[in-house]
Amino acid sequence: METPAYIIDEKILTRNLEILAEVQKSTGAKILLAQKCFSAYYFYPLIKKYLSGTASSGLHEARLSKEFFGGENHVYAPAYKDSEIIELAEICDHVIFNSFRQVEKFADKVKSAGLRINPEHSTQKISIYDPCSKNSRLGVRIDEFKSARRDLLEKLDGLHFHTLCEQNSDALEETVDAVEKNFGEYLYKMKWLNLGGGHHITKSNYDIERLKKIICRLKNKYDVEIYLEPGEAVALDAGFLVASVLEIQNLRDGVQNVIIDASAACHMPDVLEMPYTPKIIGAAEIGVKKFNYRFGGATCLAGDIIGEYSFDNPLNEGDEIIFCDMAIYTMVKNNTFNGVKLPAIYAKTFDGELKLIKNFSYENFKGRLS
Ligand SMILES: *Cc1c(COP(=O)(O)O)cnc(C)c1O
Repeated sequence: METPAYIIDEKILTRNLEILAEVQKSTGAKILLAQKCFSAYYFYPLIKKYLSGTASSGLHEARLSKEFFGGENHVYAPAYKDSEIIELAEICDHVIFNSFRQVEKFADKVKSAGLRINPEHSTQKISIYDPCSKNSRLGVRIDEFKSARRDLLEKLDGLHFHTLCEQNSDALEETVDAVEKNFGEYLYKMKWLNLGGGHHITKSNYDIERLKKIICRLKNKYDVEIYLEPGEAVALDAGFLVASVLEIQNLRDGVQNVIIDASAACHMPDVLEMPYTPKIIGAAEIGVKKFNYRFGGATCLAGDIIGEYSFDNPLNEGDEIIFCDMAIYTMVKNNTFNGVKLPAIYAKTFDGELKLIKNFSYENFKGRLS
């Protein structure tokens, strides 16, 4: 296998999908794949066996969903363009708006209009992932909602909120409390309520029973259809990024630098954005095992550092390194900074075979630039 390459494991993906399908079955809620997290559409036929549809962030994702998924197609964007709303209206079942102004402009054109609300209840401290942070542009706050024109309110079939990121159902519970306190009276008039994403449902410590209780209570109390649109939970731990060691720099003291043919900046940008250190199979945190290394990408960016790790045995040029949990927010965010090659994409099939889905070349790099 040529590196760098992503491998998506169909067995692990299916394990996640089974968990999500069970939540749908036992609550009657509908679960959508948030395509912005994972949209390797080769796997859509598999995902479609379990989930109800997709959540899109705009026209291109909505088109991808229509072409390759074919289930319910929901879209939310902070603002839509005049030039795209007709096509969106045609291919999307729900169009979720971010402001009453957008509702005024476009709601009459779409099949089912919704509005994103801002519950103004933060459950996390990382502000770039917190839509409830001060001056957030995402969602309508209760103050504005209360003074909205009646005719615009009447155009709404549903409400949507998205405030969580990698969180458990206790954070959802708090958020739902905040939503009900302020928006409860309006929920009785809605047909649906979308609880957004950020639900870490397939993580081993996630309290699924509490999620189910919340869903069932909301459904019964307000007589609404409940939607969830997780991204991470769908493909959590289902992907790997395989890279090769190109060179090892023996610094006199301190850890040794390893340069690999993958890059944090190009292939795992969340490592720098979040930031976090991805797991490598066979490695431990620095200082735990005997041989210590600091992994960097083959780009010019000094900060293209993936992390520091320790190994039982010394590494050598040509060794393969396997990073874990690399299906989510990777392929969708890749770039070709420095002209670095995009990783190939493989499926690990149910039979355990590696199947090449897509390879990238110089042409893919060139094609985006002129
Ligand atoms: C990011 C996002 C999601 C998916 O979030 P995950 O953390 O991947 O589950 C769903 N809905 C909206 C509106 C989002 O912005």
